[in-house]
Amino acid sequence: MTTALITGANKGIGFETARQLAARDITVLMAARDKDLGQAAVETLKAEGAQAHFVHLDVTDADSIARAAEWIDSEFGSLDILINNAGITGALDFDGKPSSTTVATLRQVYETNVFGVVAVTNALLPLLRRAEAARIVNVSSEVGSLELMMNPEGPMWQMAAISYPSSKTALNMVTAMYAKEFWGTPIKVNAANPGYCATDLNHHTGFRTPAQGAEPSVYLATLPEDGPSGQLWGYEWDEQGGYGRLPW
Ligand code: NAP
Repeated sequence: MTTALITGANKGIGFETARQLAARDITVLMAARDKDLGQAAVETLKAEGAQAHFVHLDVTDADSIARAAEWIDSEFGSLDILINNAGITGALDFDGKPSSTTVATLRQVYETNVFGVVAVTNALLPLLRRAEAARIVNVSSEVGSLELMMNPEGPMWQMAAISYPSSKTALNMVTAMYAKEFWGTPIKVNAANPGYCATDLNHHTGFRTPAQGAEPSVYLATLPEDGPSGQLWGYEWDEQGGYGRLPW
């Protein structure tokens, strides 16, 4: 049995990631901070024939992370795939420009998008090390790519905000450093970019579907032995954008 834990699996890209992994006969541990929403998401996938379980997990709550790790240990004894998908954009301070951004907003966004990923990953690493060839996928964003954000010809040139984009830049480096720590071992660590998808995160303004956005996570979660580690991979921005390795 192959097991995958997906954080923020109750909706959006996380839910579709769980659905696509379950369709590949992977047992999905659907983590959510809201019990009712998480249970409902599990029931939806079970009705489609999935092997799905609910895991109560708030990535900013150390006790909740520890309890989730203990439960997975007692039920499964190991974990093959971890998808750090949960993410927030944070409050919009005035116009959202760097000069208007409060440190409180930065802290809030980093708690979930950066510190939460490290806390969840480190708590689950003992279980991931017990798997034959674990895969860790951090759901990042092209807005965390310095090269893509600083391209005056690119679609993101008009964006000048710091909390969400810089949290994803930090997440990219976190991903790269875990990849280095596990270089030459069976554990692969990569960052996924879903492309700009219509979800609650952006008030459904994205061009792609959440199901399309899940594809890079699923690809990286099921990489073969000779697959890459330490890469940012996925869809660029809109339907004109490419699919593949992206610049950090
Ligand atoms: P979404 O529909 O808003 O889903 C976000 C998920 O994260 C929800 O399940 C949410 O739970 C969960 N979450 C937030 N804070 C959490 C916490 N402290 N603990 C546990 N779960 C928490 O957004 P999405 O678009 O699917 O985003 C999924 C990932 O893709 C994020 O990392 C996002 O940054 C990334 N991404 C999205 C896009 C895009 O265009 N949509 C593009 C690039 C990257 P609740 O329902 O309880 O709030």
